[in-house]
Amino acid sequence: MVKRHRMNQNHDRPVFRFAPSPNGRLHLGHALSALENERQARETGGRLLLRIEDIDRARCTPALEKGVIADLRWLGISFDGPVFRQSEHFADYQNMLQMLIDRNLAYPAFMTRGEVRRLVSESEASGTIWPRDPDGAPLYPDRDRRRPLQERQDMLAAGMRHAFRLDMAAAVETLDAPLSWLEQTADGIVETPADPAVWGDIVLSRSDAPSSYHLSVVTDDAAQGVTHVVRGMDLLQATAVHRLLQALLGLPAPIYRHHRLLLGTDGRKLSKSNGDTALCELRANGVSPADIRVMCGF
Ligand code: GLU
Repeated sequence: MVKRHRMNQNHDRPVFRFAPSPNGRLHLGHALSALENERQARETGGRLLLRIEDIDRARCTPALEKGVIADLRWLGISFDGPVFRQSEHFADYQNMLQMLIDRNLAYPAFMTRGEVRRLVSESEASGTIWPRDPDGAPLYPDRDRRRPLQERQDMLAAGMRHAFRLDMAAAVETLDAPLSWLEQTADGIVETPADPAVWGDIVLSRSDAPSSYHLSVVTDDAAQGVTHVVRGMDLLQATAVHRLLQALLGLPAPIYRHHRLLLGTDGRKLSKSNGDTALCELRANGVSPADIRVMCGF
């Protein structure tokens, strides 16, 4: 039996959100995603919210946020309600993290990126292939998870920099049924099995950021009453992690739709470093909002 989803039923109208990170200007891929959300909200009589995902305080600046909002306004997309900024909700993510710590499902992780890299290359040099997550990143080593409690406490007391990570094996163990999510496809809504274990011990907070993308996205989708998550195909696999966190934290599960991605001339997903597809560049070159809609296939 596949576990039934607890749907968000706080709203009669569907609730959609577009959730850009203001660590650069918007490009055509963002425009596609915003337009997909706008279209679905319009077709269903739903509401469309704007969420600024700015937990990375070093890379997300107020100037870039202004630019993102100006890009959306120029594109002609209007949003319901006030702008929701993740940087104003750090206490909420902290509460969620504490719930996981209290249940022994999260542990302090002390290894730096460099230490992880070294361990992985040493292991691979001796012929053992290190397991990787669906994005190709090495899974976090089990050293910190296995650390004796006293040692862990001593390291924390000594003020050592640390992140918090999910004890994935323990978390999956708490589930009473296999996880799945509802994916809206051209053929209707399909129940899709979720296997979060392939991501290993995902990060929940960093030493320099009080939350991770995964933790804040599930917290906010619930807090904002989001019923439909419409986002790019590149986040399809991450949905398994989101479903796990929703199950652990008792949060409702939205319906998901992962749309096509726009690819650059090199066949790769568009990125912010690929400046020639930034909306502000296109605009400066005389491209109109109507042209953008056509370029995105609308
Ligand atoms: N902030 C994410 C991004 O800009 C989107 C997250 C989501 O839609 O779940 O890629």
